[in-house]
This record gives sequence, structure tokens and C-alpha cells, in this order.
Amino acid sequence: MSEIITRFAPSPTGYLHIGGLRTALFNYLFARSNKGKFFLRIEDTDLARNSKEAADEIIDAFKWVGMDFDGEILYQSKRFDLYQTYINKLIAQDKAYYCYMSKEELDTLRENQRINGQTPRYDNRYRDFKGTPPTGISPVVRIKAPLSGAIEFHDGVKGNIKVEAKEIDDFIIARSDGVPTYNFVVSIDDALSGITDVIRGDDHLSNTPKQIVIYNALDFKIPRFYHVPMILNPQGHKLSKRDGAMGVMEYKKEGYLPEAILNFLARLGWSYGDKEIFSLQEMLAYFNPNDLNSSPSSYNQEKFLWLNAHYIKQTPNEILQKLLEDFQCPTPESSKRDVLYEAIKERSHTLKEFSQMIQDILISPLFYDEKSQEKIDKQAYDMLNLFKTTLKTLSLNTEEEFHNYVHSFIQDHSLKTGKFMQPLRIALLGKPGGIGLVETMYIIGQEESIKRIEKFCLT
Ligand code: GLU
Repeated sequence: MSEIITRFAPSPTGYLHIGGLRTALFNYLFARSNKGKFFLRIEDTDLARNSKEAADEIIDAFKWVGMDFDGEILYQSKRFDLYQTYINKLIAQDKAYYCYMSKEELDTLRENQRINGQTPRYDNRYRDFKGTPPTGISPVVRIKAPLSGAIEFHDGVKGNIKVEAKEIDDFIIARSDGVPTYNFVVSIDDALSGITDVIRGDDHLSNTPKQIVIYNALDFKIPRFYHVPMILNPQGHKLSKRDGAMGVMEYKKEGYLPEAILNFLARLGWSYGDKEIFSLQEMLAYFNPNDLNSSPSSYNQEKFLWLNAHYIKQTPNEILQKLLEDFQCPTPESSKRDVLYEAIKERSHTLKEFSQMIQDILISPLFYDEKSQEKIDKQAYDMLNLFKTTLKTLSLNTEEEFHNYVHSFIQDHSLKTGKFMQPLRIALLGKPGGIGLVETMYIIGQEESIKRIEKFCLT
């Protein structure tokens, strides 16, 4: 196989959504797994709708998930002169032409076609026009599309696609203000970058025949295409924010790990047997665009959280501590950090949750869960007081020493473990659930444990 060259070509009109990152990932994986090239091109020709923030966010997202690209980022807005040379070339070769039809004329034509039951389409009136052009009209440039036959191509996901020539009119490649159209610039850039494989959303499928018309007119080599079905919500509708889908960098703020995002996205539309967990290395080893699914995939938030929890567990504590800095997370003294992290790793799905759980342990409770507190009777308070008073006479440092103290206290006073532990939990942490109490006391230390029980017994 000759070198694989792919690209991701987002339009920076809004935040980079998860579907966009998935497209990028597929292109990235295909190129990198074949030692090919992967380019990033910002399609910012729509000067009114672009935003610099959106373009920057795309670059940030790439950095965050660790996807690198080759060469410089190509900004289409800087290439208008180049596009113009190709428009001129097509006009000089009589493969494109100026069309002076006014908007009103075009509207009337379309309206009449509709009334006569025809599909509205441009009627080629300026295709071979040799007369004197009307004055006062800035012309558009149209390309000469084939008049007969069909445009056919093989799509790696959809199979063979055939579009009859009559379905494609002489479409506009440059507007009356000179700005080239979307299909034109995509074709020029893909061809000049030597793109061999285009993987993109299937909302672009209908653009492909037009792009092939442009490729053919300029004698460019046509790339292979893979049009990937959209990501849908569990109800089978277009994915929206309401389904939990956010801009890529929002996921970072919510405490998702890049490994989880990449794994989740890879599996939305691609599979390798029934394997669910993929490291980037594994994705690179197994990815093949011919295995992209032809049916839409469904966004499953629970699975996403499950994967994120998996990757949190895999992350070394040293690195976790660094990542948690973004969540204003307090860190206990280093000897206790590992006990704390290992306990929370079993329970949290996101770094945000992780950080919250740490705060819930390290910061003395401000409130106590009312329902739990109501269940605590006088005898339980007495036991807590006794537990605390005895604790004051000891000097406990290791986890084992805390363990032995708690359990011998329960035994010595013939207590039922649950009956004692639940009030102790409310005193120390303010609410039911959470990590083990021996671990908690070891982490917060003897003095803080005493303080919390004292404070609770005074309420
Ligand atoms: N700029 C287009 C978009 O963001 C993608 C173009 C392409 O992949 O060919 O939808």
C-alpha cells in the first residue's frame, strides 16, 4: 500500500464536539498505524461564522488527548489566492464559466420548475454563453458538471455509490463576491495535500459526487472515502447536549481522562471482535477503516463512565495527584495519599467525583445527614464519647493500629459492628457511604478524628 495520508478538517464555527473528535481519531489512527501522515486543516472560509476561540479549542483538544499531526496547520482563510488560481485555470480551460444569472432569475426558474413538477436545478444557460454579459451583475463561477452518465465511487463504509449526472447541476465554485465554495476548497486542499483517504461524517456523503466532479476537472487523483454514520442518542435521535454530550474540553473539566475519551469514541463506530478496552497502542495495532460500522452508533453515558473509572484505576497515584490539581483538590501528607487514592479509585467515575470524595474526607463535615442522625440513640452517643475518650489516651499512627483499636473497642463493649460503625461514620464524615472508617481515621489522623467526634457529640 502506498503512503496513507489523512486529515481532519473541522469548521471552527462552534466548540469541537465529540463526533468531530471521533472523526479526527479515525483519521489519526489510520495514518499513524500505517506510518503515514495526518494533517489538521481549519476550514475557516466562512468568515462571518468562524471564531478564533473555536479554532484554538480544537488545537487544545488535540493536545489534551495526545493526538499529534504532521506539518503546519493549514488555514483555508489564508489560501484564497491559491484557490483563485484554480478557478482561473478551470475558466481558461473552459471547464468552468461565469454565470450572470441574478438571484431573482434563479428563484423564478426554480419556482417554475417546481410548478412543472421538475427538480429545481440550474438550467445551464451560461454554460456555453458567448454573448456580451449583462452589466451590473457580479457573476458567480460555475463548474461544468457532466451532462450524461453517472458519478460512481466506492465508499469504504457505505459500499458502491452511484449518482446520475442529471442529479448534479453546474454548481457554483465561486460566489459573486469571489469567495470559493466549500466543496471547491475541500477538493483543492485534499488534492494538494495528497490526501489518500477521507474519513468523515456521512452528512458529507452528498458532497462527495460534487467533489469528484472537481477532482476530475482538475485531473486530481480521487481519494478513498469512508462516510461514518452519526452518533445517536439511546433513543436513536441526533445527539444533543441534553444527552450528556459536551464540547471536548468540557469533558476535561468534568474529569474525564483522555484515554477514556479515545477508547469510548473508537468503539462508537468501530469494533474489533468484542473487545471493549483499548489502549492507544492497541487501537493503532488493530484499527482498519474497513471495519467501521455502517449502522449508527449510540452514545452510552454509563459505558463512558465505566471506561473513565477503569482508566482512573489504571492511573499511577503520582500522576493522579497532578491531574487533581485542576480540581482544587487538597492532598493529604504523602504517606497517606496512596491509602486515600486507592480507596477512592474503587468508587469514583470522574476526577471531579474523585476530588469531591477527597474533600468529603479531608474537610470536617459542616452538616450531618439528618435521617442518619435521627437514628442515633443515646447509647450510641455514649459509645462514641467513650470511643473518643479512650482514643485520647492512645497514640495511634499506623492503619493497623487504628484497625486494632476499632475492633477491640467493639469487642470489649460487646457492640454490634454495624450499630457502632454507622454513628461513627456520621460523626467522622457526616453522611452514610464512602470509604472504610479505619482508612478514614488513619488518613485524617488521631487528633482530627477526636475533634470530629467531639464536635458531633455536641450537636
Ligand atoms: N469542514 C467540514 C466539517 O466540519 C468537514 C469537511 C470534510 O471532512 O470534508 O463538517
